[in-house]
Amino acid sequence: MNLSKSRYTLGIRCKKLLWLSCFKSEEAEDLGNDSVFENGNKVGDLARSLFGEYTLINYDDNYKNMLDETTKYLNNKPNIICEASFSYDGNFCSVDILKNDFDGVEIYEVKSSTELKNIYVDDVSYQTWVLNKLGMNVKKSYVVYVNNKYVKEGDFDINKYFVIKEVTDKIDLASVEKRITELKEIINSKREPNIDLSEGCKRPYDCPFFKYCTKDLVKPNVFDIGWHVKFTKKLDMYYKGIISYKDVLDNGGFNEKANEQMKYELYNLPPKINKDRINTFLSQLTYPLYFLDFESYQDSIPVIDGTKPYQQICFQYSLHYYEKEGGELHHKEYLSG
Ligand code: SF4
Repeated sequence: MNLSKSRYTLGIRCKKLLWLSCFKSEEAEDLGNDSVFENGNKVGDLARSLFGEYTLINYDDNYKNMLDETTKYLNNKPNIICEASFSYDGNFCSVDILKNDFDGVEIYEVKSSTELKNIYVDDVSYQTWVLNKLGMNVKKSYVVYVNNKYVKEGDFDINKYFVIKEVTDKIDLASVEKRITELKEIINSKREPNIDLSEGCKRPYDCPFFKYCTKDLVKPNVFDIGWHVKFTKKLDMYYKGIISYKDVLDNGGFNEKANEQMKYELYNLPPKINKDRINTFLSQLTYPLYFLDFESYQDSIPVIDGTKPYQQICFQYSLHYYEKEGGELHHKEYLSG
Protein backbone atom coordinates (compact mmCIF):
# COMPACT_ATOMS: atom_id res chain seq x y z
CA MET A 1 0.00 0.00 0.00
CA ASN A 2 1.22 3.50 -0.84
CA LEU A 3 1.57 6.54 1.39
CA SER A 4 -0.01 9.94 0.71
CA LYS A 5 0.28 13.22 2.56
CA SER A 6 -3.01 12.64 4.38
CA ARG A 7 -1.96 9.11 5.38
CA TYR A 8 1.43 10.45 6.48
CA THR A 9 -0.16 13.04 8.79
CA LEU A 10 -2.59 10.45 10.17
CA GLY A 11 0.40 8.25 10.97
CA ILE A 12 2.20 11.13 12.66
CA ARG A 13 -0.80 11.57 14.93
CA CYS A 14 -1.08 7.85 15.74
CA LYS A 15 0.09 4.72 13.92
CA LYS A 16 -3.06 2.88 14.91
CA LEU A 17 -5.16 5.71 13.47
CA LEU A 18 -3.34 5.29 10.16
CA TRP A 19 -3.80 1.50 10.17
CA LEU A 20 -7.50 1.69 11.10
CA SER A 21 -8.09 4.31 8.38
CA CYS A 22 -6.61 1.91 5.83
CA PHE A 23 -8.16 -1.35 6.99
CA LYS A 24 -11.14 -0.66 9.26
CA SER A 25 -12.46 2.67 8.03
CA GLU A 26 -16.04 1.46 8.66
CA GLU A 27 -15.30 1.72 12.40
CA ALA A 28 -14.71 5.49 12.18
CA GLU A 29 -17.36 7.62 13.82
CA ASP A 30 -18.90 10.53 11.97
CA LEU A 31 -17.74 13.45 14.10
CA GLY A 32 -19.93 15.94 12.25
CA ASN A 33 -17.01 17.72 10.60
CA ASP A 34 -18.87 18.54 7.36
CA SER A 35 -18.70 22.29 7.93
CA VAL A 36 -14.96 22.02 8.67
CA PHE A 37 -14.41 20.22 5.34
CA GLU A 38 -16.65 22.72 3.56
CA ASN A 39 -14.68 25.65 4.97
CA GLY A 40 -11.43 23.89 4.09
CA ASN A 41 -12.51 23.51 0.47
CA LYS A 42 -13.71 27.11 0.21
CA VAL A 43 -10.48 28.51 1.65
CA GLY A 44 -8.38 26.16 -0.50
CA ASP A 45 -10.18 27.25 -3.67
CA LEU A 46 -9.79 30.92 -2.75
CA ALA A 47 -6.05 30.59 -2.08
CA ARG A 48 -5.38 29.34 -5.59
CA SER A 49 -5.50 32.88 -6.95
CA LEU A 50 -3.12 34.21 -4.27
CA PHE A 51 -0.27 34.59 -6.77
CA GLY A 52 -2.30 35.42 -9.87
CA GLU A 53 -2.99 33.12 -12.81
CA TYR A 54 -2.61 29.41 -12.20
CA THR A 55 -3.08 26.01 -13.77
CA LEU A 56 -5.20 23.50 -11.85
CA ILE A 57 -4.50 19.77 -11.98
CA ASN A 58 -7.96 18.26 -11.60
CA TYR A 59 -8.47 15.40 -9.18
CA ASP A 60 -8.53 11.98 -10.84
CA ASP A 61 -9.04 8.60 -9.15
CA ASN A 62 -6.27 7.41 -11.41
CA TYR A 63 -3.30 9.26 -9.90
CA LYS A 64 -1.21 8.55 -12.99
CA ASN A 65 -3.33 11.03 -14.95
CA MET A 66 -2.59 13.72 -12.35
CA LEU A 67 1.14 12.93 -12.49
CA ASP A 68 1.16 13.09 -16.30
CA GLU A 69 -0.73 16.40 -16.35
CA THR A 70 1.68 17.87 -13.83
CA THR A 71 4.72 16.81 -15.86
CA LYS A 72 3.22 18.58 -18.88
CA TYR A 73 2.86 21.92 -17.06
CA LEU A 74 6.14 21.74 -15.15
CA ASN A 75 8.00 22.60 -18.36
CA ASN A 76 6.11 25.92 -18.79
CA LYS A 77 8.29 27.81 -16.30
CA PRO A 78 7.73 30.15 -14.60
CA ASN A 79 4.14 29.31 -13.61
CA ILE A 80 1.82 28.50 -10.72
CA ILE A 81 0.37 25.00 -10.54
CA CYS A 82 -2.37 24.12 -8.04
CA GLU A 83 -2.68 20.47 -6.97
CA ALA A 84 0.59 19.69 -8.78
CA SER A 85 1.02 15.95 -8.15
CA PHE A 86 4.15 13.88 -7.59
CA SER A 87 5.07 10.36 -6.62
CA TYR A 88 8.34 8.89 -5.43
CA ASP A 89 8.74 5.24 -4.51
CA GLY A 90 5.07 4.81 -3.56
CA ASN A 91 4.81 8.19 -1.80
CA PHE A 92 2.20 10.38 -3.46
CA CYS A 93 1.41 14.04 -2.81
CA SER A 94 -0.50 16.91 -4.37
CA VAL A 95 0.86 20.36 -3.57
CA ASP A 96 -1.87 22.93 -2.92
CA ILE A 97 0.11 25.70 -4.68
CA LEU A 98 3.43 25.15 -6.43
CA LYS A 99 5.44 28.18 -7.54
CA ASN A 100 7.46 26.77 -10.40
CA ASP A 101 10.49 28.95 -11.18
CA PHE A 102 13.57 28.47 -13.40
CA ASP A 103 15.86 27.84 -10.42
CA GLY A 104 13.50 25.63 -8.37
CA VAL A 105 10.06 25.51 -6.75
CA GLU A 106 8.25 26.82 -3.68
CA ILE A 107 5.59 24.77 -1.87
CA TYR A 108 2.50 26.38 -0.29
CA GLU A 109 0.23 24.24 1.88
CA VAL A 110 -3.14 25.93 2.49
CA LYS A 111 -5.12 25.49 5.73
CA SER A 112 -8.47 26.98 6.74
CA SER A 113 -7.27 27.23 10.34
CA THR A 114 -6.41 30.57 11.95
CA GLU A 115 -3.13 29.36 13.47
CA LEU A 116 -0.02 27.45 12.52
CA LYS A 117 -0.13 23.91 13.96
CA ASN A 118 2.81 21.49 14.11
CA ILE A 119 0.85 18.95 12.08
CA TYR A 120 0.82 21.43 9.15
CA VAL A 121 4.61 21.53 9.25
CA ASP A 122 4.61 17.71 9.12
CA ASP A 123 2.31 17.89 6.11
CA VAL A 124 4.54 20.31 4.17
CA SER A 125 7.67 18.41 5.28
CA TYR A 126 6.37 15.25 3.62
CA GLN A 127 5.74 17.13 0.36
CA THR A 128 9.18 18.71 0.49
CA TRP A 129 10.74 15.26 0.99
CA VAL A 130 8.89 13.79 -2.04
CA LEU A 131 9.92 16.65 -4.34
CA ASN A 132 13.50 16.55 -3.08
CA LYS A 133 13.70 12.83 -3.79
CA LEU A 134 12.52 13.53 -7.34
CA GLY A 135 15.53 15.79 -7.74
CA MET A 136 13.64 19.08 -7.59
CA ASN A 137 15.16 22.08 -5.89
CA VAL A 138 12.63 23.07 -3.20
CA LYS A 139 13.77 26.60 -2.43
CA LYS A 140 11.24 27.34 0.29
CA SER A 141 8.20 25.77 1.93
CA TYR A 142 5.25 27.66 3.40
CA VAL A 143 2.01 27.15 5.29
CA VAL A 144 -0.81 29.50 4.28
CA TYR A 145 -3.58 30.01 6.85
CA VAL A 146 -6.38 32.43 7.68
CA ASN A 147 -5.72 35.78 9.36
CA ASN A 148 -8.44 36.03 12.01
CA LYS A 149 -7.62 39.74 12.50
CA TYR A 150 -8.64 40.60 8.95
CA VAL A 151 -11.75 42.81 8.84
CA LYS A 152 -13.45 43.10 5.47
CA GLU A 153 -14.01 46.69 4.41
CA GLY A 154 -15.08 47.21 0.80
CA ASP A 155 -13.39 44.90 -1.71
CA PHE A 156 -12.18 41.59 -0.30
CA ASP A 157 -8.38 41.70 0.10
CA ILE A 158 -6.94 38.22 -0.41
CA ASN A 159 -3.44 39.35 0.61
CA LYS A 160 -4.65 40.57 4.00
CA TYR A 161 -6.97 37.58 4.46
CA PHE A 162 -4.15 35.03 4.29
CA VAL A 163 -1.04 34.67 6.46
CA ILE A 164 1.90 33.13 4.57
CA LYS A 165 4.38 31.60 7.00
CA GLU A 166 7.67 30.18 5.84
CA VAL A 167 8.49 26.88 7.58
CA THR A 168 11.61 25.86 5.61
CA ASP A 169 13.78 25.95 8.76
CA LYS A 170 11.41 23.65 10.65
CA ILE A 171 11.75 20.83 8.11
CA ASP A 172 13.97 17.88 9.01
CA LEU A 173 14.14 15.62 5.96
CA ALA A 174 16.07 12.85 7.73
CA SER A 175 13.25 12.52 10.29
CA VAL A 176 10.66 12.52 7.54
CA GLU A 177 12.46 9.66 5.80
CA LYS A 178 12.64 7.65 9.02
CA ARG A 179 8.95 8.17 9.68
CA ILE A 180 8.01 7.22 6.13
CA THR A 181 9.84 3.91 6.55
CA GLU A 182 8.02 3.24 9.84
CA LEU A 183 4.61 4.19 8.46
CA LYS A 184 5.05 2.06 5.35
CA GLU A 185 5.68 -0.93 7.61
CA ILE A 186 2.41 -0.16 9.40
CA ILE A 187 0.26 0.04 6.26
CA ASN A 188 1.86 -3.02 4.77
CA SER A 189 1.15 -5.13 7.83
CA LYS A 190 -2.03 -7.14 8.37
CA ARG A 191 -1.67 -6.77 12.14
CA GLU A 192 -3.46 -3.96 13.96
CA PRO A 193 -0.87 -1.93 15.93
CA ASN A 194 -1.10 -2.36 19.67
CA ILE A 195 -1.13 1.27 20.75
CA ASP A 196 -2.64 2.59 23.96
CA LEU A 197 -4.74 5.72 24.34
CA SER A 198 -2.86 9.00 24.67
CA GLU A 199 -3.37 12.76 24.51
CA GLY A 200 -3.14 12.36 20.72
CA CYS A 201 -6.63 10.80 20.78
CA LYS A 202 -8.02 14.30 21.32
CA ARG A 203 -5.28 16.59 20.01
CA PRO A 204 -4.86 18.29 17.61
CA TYR A 205 -8.20 16.77 16.59
CA ASP A 206 -10.71 14.30 18.01
CA CYS A 207 -9.87 10.85 16.67
CA PRO A 208 -12.83 9.19 14.88
CA PHE A 209 -11.74 5.78 16.22
CA PHE A 210 -11.96 6.67 19.93
CA LYS A 211 -15.15 4.64 20.37
CA TYR A 212 -13.51 1.67 18.67
CA CYS A 213 -10.35 1.92 20.78
CA THR A 214 -12.35 2.04 24.02
CA LYS A 215 -14.92 -0.61 23.06
CA ASP A 216 -13.54 -3.22 25.47
CA LEU A 217 -13.51 -0.96 28.53
CA VAL A 218 -16.09 -1.50 31.26
CA LYS A 219 -19.19 0.68 30.83
CA PRO A 220 -19.65 3.40 32.00
CA ASN A 221 -16.01 4.37 32.31
CA VAL A 222 -13.83 7.35 33.09
CA PHE A 223 -14.08 8.59 29.47
CA ASP A 224 -17.87 8.84 29.75
CA ILE A 225 -17.55 11.65 32.30
CA GLY A 226 -18.61 14.99 30.84
CA TRP A 227 -16.59 18.08 29.94
CA HIS A 228 -16.15 19.05 33.61
CA VAL A 229 -12.99 16.89 33.67
CA LYS A 230 -10.05 17.40 31.30
CA PHE A 231 -9.10 14.50 29.04
CA THR A 232 -5.55 14.42 30.48
CA LYS A 233 -6.95 13.87 33.99
CA LYS A 234 -9.13 11.03 32.74
CA LEU A 235 -6.08 9.52 31.05
CA ASP A 236 -4.14 9.68 34.35
CA MET A 237 -6.85 7.59 36.04
CA TYR A 238 -7.01 5.20 33.10
CA TYR A 239 -3.23 4.63 33.16
CA LYS A 240 -3.50 3.76 36.88
CA GLY A 241 -6.14 1.14 36.03
CA ILE A 242 -8.91 3.21 37.64
CA ILE A 243 -11.51 2.93 34.92
CA SER A 244 -15.05 2.16 36.08
CA TYR A 245 -17.19 4.86 37.70
CA LYS A 246 -17.11 2.86 40.93
CA ASP A 247 -13.31 2.66 40.92
CA VAL A 248 -13.02 6.36 40.10
CA LEU A 249 -15.35 7.29 42.97
CA ASP A 250 -13.60 4.88 45.37
CA ASN A 251 -10.33 6.64 44.54
CA GLY A 252 -11.56 10.13 45.38
CA GLY A 253 -13.21 10.94 42.04
CA PHE A 254 -12.78 14.33 40.42
CA ASN A 255 -14.68 17.55 41.06
CA GLU A 256 -18.17 17.87 42.54
CA LYS A 257 -20.02 17.97 39.21
CA ALA A 258 -18.20 14.92 37.83
CA ASN A 259 -18.74 12.94 41.01
CA GLU A 260 -22.40 13.87 40.99
CA GLN A 261 -22.73 12.74 37.36
CA MET A 262 -21.14 9.37 38.15
CA LYS A 263 -23.33 8.77 41.21
CA TYR A 264 -26.51 9.64 39.33
CA GLU A 265 -25.70 7.27 36.46
CA LEU A 266 -24.30 4.53 38.66
CA TYR A 267 -27.17 4.42 41.17
CA ASN A 268 -29.90 5.48 38.72
CA LEU A 269 -30.91 8.40 40.92
CA PRO A 270 -33.89 10.60 39.99
CA PRO A 271 -33.18 13.95 38.21
CA LYS A 272 -31.94 16.61 40.60
CA ILE A 273 -34.02 19.79 40.41
CA ASN A 274 -33.11 22.59 42.76
CA LYS A 275 -36.53 24.21 43.08
CA ASP A 276 -35.35 26.76 45.67
CA ARG A 277 -32.70 28.15 43.32
CA ILE A 278 -35.15 28.26 40.43
CA ASN A 279 -37.74 30.10 42.57
CA THR A 280 -35.12 32.56 43.81
CA PHE A 281 -34.13 33.32 40.22
CA LEU A 282 -37.73 33.73 39.05
CA SER A 283 -38.63 36.00 41.99
CA GLN A 284 -35.88 38.43 40.96
CA LEU A 285 -37.33 39.04 37.48
CA THR A 286 -39.10 42.35 36.88
CA TYR A 287 -41.31 43.60 34.04
CA PRO A 288 -40.97 44.17 31.13
CA LEU A 289 -40.01 40.52 30.50
CA TYR A 290 -38.30 39.53 27.23
CA PHE A 291 -38.00 36.05 25.69
CA LEU A 292 -35.36 36.14 23.00
CA ASP A 293 -34.34 33.43 20.54
CA PHE A 294 -31.81 33.93 17.74
CA GLU A 295 -29.86 32.06 15.10
CA SER A 296 -26.32 32.76 13.95
CA TYR A 297 -23.73 31.40 11.53
CA GLN A 298 -19.98 31.46 10.96
CA ASP A 299 -18.21 31.82 7.65
CA SER A 300 -14.52 31.27 6.98
CA ILE A 301 -14.59 34.00 4.31
CA PRO A 302 -16.32 37.22 5.44
CA VAL A 303 -18.76 38.73 2.93
CA ILE A 304 -20.21 41.50 5.13
CA ASP A 305 -18.24 44.70 5.71
CA GLY A 306 -16.97 45.07 9.25
CA THR A 307 -16.81 41.32 9.92
CA LYS A 308 -13.88 38.91 10.36
CA PRO A 309 -13.27 35.28 9.31
CA TYR A 310 -15.26 32.83 11.47
CA GLN A 311 -17.06 35.64 13.27
CA GLN A 312 -20.36 34.49 14.77
CA ILE A 313 -23.00 36.56 12.97
CA CYS A 314 -26.63 36.74 14.06
CA PHE A 315 -29.04 36.64 11.10
CA GLN A 316 -32.43 36.01 12.75
CA TYR A 317 -34.21 36.74 16.01
CA SER A 318 -37.61 36.19 17.54
CA LEU A 319 -38.57 38.25 20.58
CA HIS A 320 -41.68 37.79 22.72
CA TYR A 321 -42.28 40.25 25.55
CA TYR A 322 -44.73 41.33 28.24
CA GLU A 323 -44.65 45.01 29.15
CA LYS A 324 -46.48 44.47 32.45
CA GLU A 325 -47.86 41.66 34.55
CA GLY A 326 -51.07 40.25 33.01
CA GLY A 327 -50.44 42.37 29.90
CA GLU A 328 -50.60 41.34 26.27
CA LEU A 329 -47.85 39.16 24.74
CA HIS A 330 -46.08 41.14 21.98
CA HIS A 331 -43.80 39.73 19.30
CA LYS A 332 -41.03 41.13 17.10
CA GLU A 333 -38.91 39.24 14.63
CA TYR A 334 -36.24 39.76 12.00
CA LEU A 335 -34.76 37.58 9.30
CA SER A 336 -31.84 38.95 7.31
CA GLY A 337 -32.45 38.73 3.56
S1 SF4 B 1 -8.35 6.63 19.56
FE1 SF4 B 1 -6.25 7.14 20.09
S2 SF4 B 1 -5.18 5.17 20.08
FE2 SF4 B 1 -7.08 4.88 18.96
S3 SF4 B 1 -6.55 5.23 16.84
FE3 SF4 B 1 -7.28 7.15 17.66
S4 SF4 B 1 -5.48 8.25 18.32
FE4 SF4 B 1 -4.88 6.10 18.07
